[in-house]
Amino acid sequence: MLDKRFIRENPDVVKQAVRVKGLDLDVDELLQLDQDSRKLQFEVDTAQASRKSRSKEFAKADVARKAELRAEQADFDRNLTELRERLSATSAQLNELMLATPTIPWEGAPVGADESANTVVRAWGTPPTFDFTPLDHVDLAEKRGWAEFARARRVAGERAYVLCGDAVLLERALHSYALDLLQGHGFRLMSVPSLVKEAPLVGTGMLPKGRAEIYEIPADDAFLAGTAEVSLVGLHAGEILDAARLPIRYAGISPCFRREIGSASRDVRGLLRVHQFEKVEQFVICADDQDESDRWHAELLGTAESILQALGLAYEVVECATGDMGVGKYRMNDINTWFPSLGLFRETHSCSSLKDWQARRANVRYRTASGEIHFAYTLNNTAVATPRLLAAVLENFQTADGTLRVPEVLRPYLGGRETL
Ligand code: AMP
Repeated sequence: MLDKRFIRENPDVVKQAVRVKGLDLDVDELLQLDQDSRKLQFEVDTAQASRKSRSKEFAKADVARKAELRAEQADFDRNLTELRERLSATSAQLNELMLATPTIPWEGAPVGADESANTVVRAWGTPPTFDFTPLDHVDLAEKRGWAEFARARRVAGERAYVLCGDAVLLERALHSYALDLLQGHGFRLMSVPSLVKEAPLVGTGMLPKGRAEIYEIPADDAFLAGTAEVSLVGLHAGEILDAARLPIRYAGISPCFRREIGSASRDVRGLLRVHQFEKVEQFVICADDQDESDRWHAELLGTAESILQALGLAYEVVECATGDMGVGKYRMNDINTWFPSLGLFRETHSCSSLKDWQARRANVRYRTASGEIHFAYTLNNTAVATPRLLAAVLENFQTADGTLRVPEVLRPYLGGRETL
């Protein structure tokens, strides 16, 4: 969410951001509502002040004046009630539009309507070549008894999967490796709830717009979050942090739930796009300093790259276009990892800087050394999201005899085993 004053002073900049992000927001309507609500607020304040002075006058008035004041009171109260109702309706409408305001994107981001405008900024590694016919991760996992798809669908419907045997250990190894690495980088490990209330989803920007994407549990007034970021922002909602506590660095691990409503027929086979998966997320709250935020962006991206390099997976880093990055993002870099069965790179990580867009929604602030109160900046990036990354490991490290070569960094988590 943007600062109202910024919108008032820079309407054209906001309109341009709305345009290049392909959003449906009428900035002029927002400005009109802002003006109306400020006018109504002034009228309510004036009427309340006059009510106070009338009751003082009443206490001192003679009988005749008291009768006059009493006779006027009903009209006066009706007017005040009506003003309050109009203010509350206008504020609600304004708030709805405010929640739809975008972060102004980084000027270096490619301008384009969707991911077709994304550009590759660098690539690492060489996709493997095989002197046998490699299997895709579904055939491979089924052949080795590492996954159940048909039975899983009977239990949980489309996009369901069951991991079995060594695949469970391999998935755990990926999580453990990522958590150990992040802890070594000073990130606090956080195992957070996925069953959450509405407020943290609004705070992170997943609601109100993304409602169709989120599993809702109306009986309990609860939702299933699609990422640990929801809880990690929510933990500090409404707080004023001491600047000395910043930057806060979290490695959040959680089950993630997504309805994938917008990708109905995409990736229906296997582990690439599922309704429930596990993710270790890198998350940072820092001061509202663009240079510092840029440094964190580079570090979060670098850490994700170092994980893929350590695993030995070829990848490319993408600069996401304005229309692909989402309403709240200032900058977004995806990392796409090589999938042999697809013969292409597919997204496995997404690194985002949001400036103070989430902090304004969730009201996460900090007090500077000189006592000023500022909204904080937030950033996030995937560390490992399984089972998609697990599928990449299975496909890239399969061997002719059907075994899997375990990436060296995962071996300590698998009792030193070199192959599975
Ligand atoms: P996001 O939080 O949307 O940026 O996603 C982070 C990462 O989670 C993606 O890059 C994918 O690796 C993984 N991911 C997202 N959605 C799914 C899904 N439905 N199934 C499996 N993995 C997913």
